[in-house]
Amino acid sequence: MLHFPDEPLRFRALRLEAHERFCLRYRRPVLRRFGLESEDLGVFVVWCDDCQRTAARLIGFPELDFDLTLDALEEEVRTRADAPQNGWRPEACPHCAAPDPTPIAAYYGRYLPEAEVDLHLELIFGGGRVVRIEHHQMTPDGDSVALDRPDDAWDFHDLFGAPLSLRVLWRAFIDRHLYADRLEMVCVQPGYYLGLRPFTDDPETAGALFEDFGEIIEALRTERPYDAITFLRDREEEGIPVPVDESYHTWLAAYAHDVGEATIEPFVVADSATFIATLARHAALYGITVDRASDDQTLFVRFHTADLDVQLNLGPVFFRVLHEGWTFHQGLRRHFERELRALAAAAQVPALLRAALPDHRVEVPGGATLVVHDPQGRAVFADDLVAFATRHDLRTDEGIGALVAEVRGGAGAS
Ligand SMILES: [Zn+2]
Repeated sequence: MLHFPDEPLRFRALRLEAHERFCLRYRRPVLRRFGLESEDLGVFVVWCDDCQRTAARLIGFPELDFDLTLDALEEEVRTRADAPQNGWRPEACPHCAAPDPTPIAAYYGRYLPEAEVDLHLELIFGGGRVVRIEHHQMTPDGDSVALDRPDDAWDFHDLFGAPLSLRVLWRAFIDRHLYADRLEMVCVQPGYYLGLRPFTDDPETAGALFEDFGEIIEALRTERPYDAITFLRDREEEGIPVPVDESYHTWLAAYAHDVGEATIEPFVVADSATFIATLARHAALYGITVDRASDDQTLFVRFHTADLDVQLNLGPVFFRVLHEGWTFHQGLRRHFERELRALAAAAQVPALLRAALPDHRVEVPGGATLVVHDPQGRAVFADDLVAFATRHDLRTDEGIGALVAEVRGGAGAS
């Protein structure tokens, strides 16, 4: 006889408790500590009839793409939850090892730093399989609310205040406004607008559609400077160095021909100061202070700590982020996290050396070059601080030992 699985109802109280624990014990501490670097995380909760307890298994999802539709993300998470061989669903009770505990629910969390909220998928089980997925939004303080399932990329953006995938939202934006009769723009995060000059094959009409452009930009500039206006086609026209597999040719493939022929003109209006403010919050996780170090024509940024003081040109990173269809946060993680980690490692080096070689004098005159003097006052080592730091693994004692040995041996002395 067929009967509707009754676990979803029977286990309702256990699920509420499990979700609260997921929020407070797992996600809140991760968001507080790692900010925009918070990784996706999943917890699988089972009920054991033998020991009459619930048990949970926690896994990370570090390899899940930034660039999935909600459908694809749900499918991915559901597939992993369905099969025990994927390492998430326990085959035996984690407490008493009794086989086949009853699945209750699985929780998956992804942080959306653009809106500072956490998306949770709650996979609800009945008869051993996922019967339903529910959606929740959690604040960094751990308060969560249940939400209706977003219908599409727009709905998701409206509900969460951030896109799940900006590339997917780009496609939806052009689909929606392809035949509009005016310039269309949408704000995807503070300081960042997508824009579209809709379809026309008549150059005169195309020009006329830009008549109000100046006024639109002036209106935006009452709020932020919005100093960057760039067309996706500028990649070719102005030679912006974006590889084809990361450019609109790939993630807007259906429209790439129209962009090339200029029958449509997608563009971005963005504010570099907001981008740098996002970078500053990211760098603060590493104890690095960030200041803009240039006028409004360039994008030089100063990274400094007690010893380190380095200037880098963030202009190329900024334009890559815009032309590759990332949010500010996603783009920085993709194109600047390695550099930030190198700077953070460099910032640690002087203190490590002072502790290891207390009779030496360790200095970083100018903030970029490491100079070490021996107890007799002779300069025994000099090297570029960042390059030197990145040659060693400062996460292990062996790595730190090798770093100290190199200074002691004077290998880099000049
Ligand atoms: Zn058990």
